[in-house]
Amino acid sequence: MSCNYADGLSPYDNKGKLGLSEEFDSEEEVNRKVDILAEWIQNSNHVVVHTGAGISTSAGIPDFRGPNGVWTLEAKGLKPSINISFDDAVPTKTHMALRKMIDLGKIHFIVSQNIDGLHLKSGVPRKYLSELHGNMFIEQCNHCHRQFVRKTATTSVGQKNLQIKCPGLRLNGRPCRGDLHDVILDWEHNLPEKDLGLADFHSCLADLSICLGTTLQIIPSGTLPLNTKKFNNGRLVICNLQPTKYDKKANLVIHTYVDDIMIKLMKKFNVPIPDYNPELDPTKGSEKNEWTIPESEVKLMRKLYEEKCCKSKRKKIKLEKSKDEDTETVEHKLDIQRENGNFSQLNQRELLDFIKSESKEGLKHESIKLEQTNEQEILEKKLTSIKSEVVTEEGTNDLNVIRDYNNVVSDINNVENRANDNGEKELLNQTECSENFVPELKASDSKSQVVEQNLIVN
Ligand SMILES: [Zn+2]
Repeated sequence: MSCNYADGLSPYDNKGKLGLSEEFDSEEEVNRKVDILAEWIQNSNHVVVHTGAGISTSAGIPDFRGPNGVWTLEAKGLKPSINISFDDAVPTKTHMALRKMIDLGKIHFIVSQNIDGLHLKSGVPRKYLSELHGNMFIEQCNHCHRQFVRKTATTSVGQKNLQIKCPGLRLNGRPCRGDLHDVILDWEHNLPEKDLGLADFHSCLADLSICLGTTLQIIPSGTLPLNTKKFNNGRLVICNLQPTKYDKKANLVIHTYVDDIMIKLMKKFNVPIPDYNPELDPTKGSEKNEWTIPESEVKLMRKLYEEKCCKSKRKKIKLEKSKDEDTETVEHKLDIQRENGNFSQLNQRELLDFIKSESKEGLKHESIKLEQTNEQEILEKKLTSIKSEVVTEEGTNDLNVIRDYNNVVSDINNVENRANDNGEKELLNQTECSENFVPELKASDSKSQVVEQNLIVN
């Protein structure tokens, strides 16, 4: 398959800002900034790198929003001229430098939006990598959910059945008999739970997040690096040619090719960047390699996250359900009381699970409408609430739930960040903790039912 996999996805209009012009720092400026970056890496305890399409362009794979990106050209009715196959693409200097830094313990985790499999091919072990949008060289069983490495890129995208039987065994030693599917997300798919969980935990635990070759426009991938600042008062570094959504929040922004940055950085560390080695590439082995994230790793990171990032801060959510007998519509109102901090991706997932678990009608979400008071009102009324309306109907899915929820949470976080920039953070925190913030609930209404749950939050 050609590496313009976007052709296989469903049409989707909201692709963010396309074709912004690229910027280049002077050579001296890049050197000065790389010196700072090297020092920060040396002095940090937990370094997470977030990678996007920009780190694979030097492997011949086009990005999406760059001047010659897939979607920038698409908007002009054109297609990328450089387009090698995923099978022929090999890891770049950046991929190999990152693997070396993982080996040396200089960086501790990679969160990638890329589906090209180049981190996998570089030999990064599974526990150090989250691939949030899938990987062309991975297939997953629909029964046991184990993942396996393919020798060639998948023939489909969008989590379709590859008509290959799962090679895994059940506990009784018999074959699993599930079907393998590709793991490439289409627009409406949920992000892979374990990958997202690890990405979230590591981003929150990090004291340094480095973004390489991403404009940070996709949610939630693009907002994860901000957790490092919010949860840990850590540093954010952005290395990209185009300006990104969060340049103003970054402690350091470097505008040049990521390969150049990595070459200079590794020189500073006095460590050569290894060449790509097919012997360490799991797609080249004779064995059928497994690529499943161990449950134990997720549990371990969750424990660390809860110990270090949650402390005693808890958030109370109340869910009010009322059923209209005539239309058989169940309305859910979700009020969230935050004591501190922002919503993490983890919380979003927990909230959705909570809504589902409370929906005893075997609810399938058709749509969820989330509303929030606008920015001005939040500052004036000094409260933030999310109301959700879940309509039950047959034959539906969760996609809109996640997407809309993410958008609202992102908006709320943005509001809070802007408030922070304006020096109004303190005001928000004070008011959030006040008693007036407790939402009123119609518990006496016989048609309504109120449930409460405490969620651990940041
Ligand atoms: Zn299986």
